[in-house]
Amino acid sequence: MKKNEIILKAISADPYLKERKSPTEAEQQLYLKEVLFTCPLCGKDLRHRKQKKNNKLYEIAHIFPNSPTVEQYALLNTLQRLGDNSETFENKIALCKDCHDQQDYHTTQEDYLNLLQKKQKLLQNTALHEATFTLGLELEIANVVRRICCLREDELAQLNYTPVKLSKKFSVNELLLKNRIAMYVTSYYPYIRDLFREMEGINGFRLDTLSLQIKCCFTKMETISNDKNAIFDQIVEWINTKTLTTSKAACEAVVSFFVQNCEVFHEITE
Ligand SMILES: [Zn+2]
Repeated sequence: MKKNEIILKAISADPYLKERKSPTEAEQQLYLKEVLFTCPLCGKDLRHRKQKKNNKLYEIAHIFPNSPTVEQYALLNTLQRLGDNSETFENKIALCKDCHDQQDYHTTQEDYLNLLQKKQKLLQNTALHEATFTLGLELEIANVVRRICCLREDELAQLNYTPVKLSKKFSVNELLLKNRIAMYVTSYYPYIRDLFREMEGINGFRLDTLSLQIKCCFTKMETISNDKNAIFDQIVEWINTKTLTTSKAACEAVVSFFVQNCEVFHEITE
């Protein structure tokens, strides 16, 4: 009994354990994407083959339990944990319902470490992916360019000229933006220019006209806001929506092309 009390005390004093926070719909998608829509423990498909089915095939599981039982805590307490606390992205993973049940009620040290190592590997893959996300963007960029060439003039007019100021937390300083644009320009400027050249004249498309229009967008926005990050992101967002592209990086590459091509953001293109 004494031992139990000590453990209960340790649980309540453990700063890693935080109150359960349900993942949002978007976060759930991230967890699913992370495991490629397959249960990392048994390989079961976590997505319905047919759409329109509402019951979920997955659950977002805690790796280290956020409210462990005395037995679990005694077992797992000394082992490695991922993330700063139980509610971080690092401590959660998508599992099928069966595996989640198994994990919740019959955790062994071996099970725990197995899942933890799976997650570690997934986190590494994601980090690698992020590091190389700008490589091999060509196909996505070609898509964006192809679709941008099909936009009509009145669609450009729908661009909202009042950039939304990003919260401090997300905005990066101008130097970072400058570096980001420079990286895209170095890697993709000639490629994008050639794509536009191929499109020249097709269905009346002219790069000069489009460039002028985009330049006009930038100029209008700059009279309203001097937050270049916000302007850049707003135009990326708009192209993203208009071209129905899944790759934000491809849109950023195309917008960077225009920043260079239209000589907007003078401080950056100098
Ligand atoms: Zn499973």
